[in-house]
Amino acid sequence: MTNQTFLSAEVSKQTHSPQLQSNLKNFKMADEGLNIYDEIEIEDMTFDPNVQIYTYPCPCGDRFEIAIDDLRDGEEIAVCPSCSLMIRVIFDVADLPKA
Ligand SMILES: [Zn+2]
Repeated sequence: MTNQTFLSAEVSKQTHSPQLQSNLKNFKMADEGLNIYDEIEIEDMTFDPNVQIYTYPCPCGDRFEIAIDDLRDGEEIAVCPSCSLMIRVIFDVADLPKA
């Protein structure tokens, strides 16, 4: 619960204008709607402690990847660097491994 509150505070701190936030949100949602390949539980992903990223096999043969720091920042979209497909990671910030 404390982590969630902290995250929300961080997000609002980065937002300078409510108008801008609204525009970005709409753009992001529309963009995601076109490109999200699947929604994956974080338990089904592989964590590589050496590089601090979560990965998941992509149908193209490469892997979707997202840094744990991005997850902590509230980012939830993992991207495949080879084919640009994306997945939405289903996770709870409070369940992430501690830094
Ligand atoms: Zn791919």
